Amino acid sequence: MKLLIVGVDGYSDRVFYDLELPASFVKTRLMPKSLFGRSKPSVQRDKSGKLAPHTGPNWSSIYTGVTPKIHGVDYGGWLNDQMSHGDLKVRSIWYEIRDHYKLGMIGMPITYPAFKCEWMISGFPNSRITENSVYPKDLKLGKGFKVDYGDGITSWRDDLIKNWDRGEYEKFVGIEDEKVDLAIKLNAVNPVDVLAFGTTIVDKSCHLFSLFSPQSFKIYKKVDSIIKRLFEAFNPEQMIVLSDHGFMAIKPIHNDKGFYLWYEESQTSSELRSIEIIETTKMILSALKLDIGMIGHKQGEKKYKQEDKDFILHNMKELGYL
Ligand SMILES: [Zn+2]
Repeated sequence: MKLLIVGVDGYSDRVFYDLELPASFVKTRLMPKSLFGRSKPSVQRDKSGKLAPHTGPNWSSIYTGVTPKIHGVDYGGWLNDQMSHGDLKVRSIWYEIRDHYKLGMIGMPITYPAFKCEWMISGFPNSRITENSVYPKDLKLGKGFKVDYGDGITSWRDDLIKNWDRGEYEKFVGIEDEKVDLAIKLNAVNPVDVLAFGTTIVDKSCHLFSLFSPQSFKIYKKVDSIIKRLFEAFNPEQMIVLSDHGFMAIKPIHNDKGFYLWYEESQTSSELRSIEIIETTKMILSALKLDIGMIGHKQGEKKYKQEDKDFILHNMKELGYL
């Protein structure tokens, strides 16, 4: 595989620097052959007037290389006019990548609705599978497959807090292992050059239990093992791990200390460098020797249909975001 991208929502750079190695695979196997460091997201004002980095705006910036004001997903809480990938005001990298390479995607945040590529399942906010959240529409997923934690009706938070030790933790992380299994299966049938795999378990855990909680430590280790599984299954020439924001240490809320890493098998040394989040766009393109071209430039105004809006709203509520 040419490039493996792993999008870890809310992965703070502090997981790698302050803590006693809850991410040992990334640290010992990937970092010595990587450019890595802090990635600084942009901040958005929310309903209460506070400024903080938010998920929708920053993933959309990663995908377009421009600020939220320009791509349109620019509201804290991010359900204003523009909502997700389908109604971005500017062109994203995914179209460029799928036009040049075989692209597979599972669970990358803010990628609804699914678009044409080899195969894909939209990510956050998407816990239910519908014919608009997968491509091709008849993609075989296996019975009971889920892309995110949630039951489609209630908020996920209470269950996870109350029953963490009574089986909910296993359910919560089990979904991620099933996503890896599925990526391996889909790739065996229809191999891709570029795989993008996303997860939101770090973000959820940090919101519920905070950055330095024992629960979040367990999740960092789990994410590390997922990255290891993906790496060993696909043996990529290059790998990019990235997040959209980090978390404060004292309060369970987002801050502007995200993380990125660009691994290259042929590298013999490493480099630490802080970057702005929009620089990750060029990084992904350089890894694939693609030009920025029309990415970040205005594209024909697309608007969601009411059913798409309802779907996104429903999922955001169910996932505890609204
Ligand atoms: Zn996020």
